Amino acid sequence: MGKLDGRVVLITGAARGQGEQEARLFAAQGANVVIADVLDDEGGALAKELGEDVARYVHLDVSQEAEWAAAVAAATDAFGRIDGLVNNAGILRFNELVSTPLEEFQQIVQVNQVGVFLGIKTVAPEIEAAGGGTIVNTASYAGLTGMTFVGAYAATKHAIVGLTRVAALELAPKGIRVNAVCPGAVDTAMSNPDGADPGALDDLYRTLVPLGRVGRPEEVARLALFLTGEESSYITGQPFVIDGGWLAGVSIL
Ligand code: NAD
Repeated sequence: MGKLDGRVVLITGAARGQGEQEARLFAAQGANVVIADVLDDEGGALAKELGEDVARYVHLDVSQEAEWAAAVAAATDAFGRIDGLVNNAGILRFNELVSTPLEEFQQIVQVNQVGVFLGIKTVAPEIEAAGGGTIVNTASYAGLTGMTFVGAYAATKHAIVGLTRVAALELAPKGIRVNAVCPGAVDTAMSNPDGADPGALDDLYRTLVPLGRVGRPEEVARLALFLTGEESSYITGQPFVIDGGWLAGVSIL
């Protein structure tokens, strides 16, 4: 028996990285998954691999309200309802605050923060109609503390923690639990910018992170599974840090 038997979960940004691993794990645990992304080739290929009775790909730019409505319609057409949402899509840009162009700041807000707002706004009524369910928002280590050169990103991730708390309060009476995952450094395309030396990144994380390594997207997927499944039935409104101990404090070892 799977931990998500009978569930229908829409996962944004699921064409690659953490979202892809969430789609794979949720499908393996019995869910129908709706893979939503702007990377149509990768998302379509993943849905095909998982099989038509298990997965569908929908094109969804999370920053566009009309596209949310179309994605939800496609998902309910395919599987009859939605009772889970993982707001995972996100973008990262590195810039010193005083050098960040307004357009760049606004683009990051539009995708990371407005995207999560639109996801909650559009999908929560569907989950309520399905009799209740779960929302998992993807914040970050940078949603709970500061970090140089990611000011716009950190602002949106702090906002996602706030949205998670308010949504949990407002949606609890409708049978919907809302939590957030706050990953530290995870080995995906986002944390490996083009041109970065992988050896240098390994050295950096060995020093910075108490557990001595970067996280794997499969590890974040397991936390998202816990927060989507029944094992977390009495948990709502919380940010969950998954960072190898990075946020625990300063180590002088
Ligand atoms: P990734 O870049 O591999 O995946 C992000 C996915 O989101 C991609 O498939 C991308 O196409 C999609 N996406 C981007 N803009 C979109 C849009 N407008 N609409 C729909 N989809 C869009 O990175 P990842 O590490 O898998 O990131 C997943 C989430 O985890 C993000 O929210 C990110 O901020 C967060 N996160 C990542 C790390 C890390 O170290 N990798 C750490 C903390 C938080």
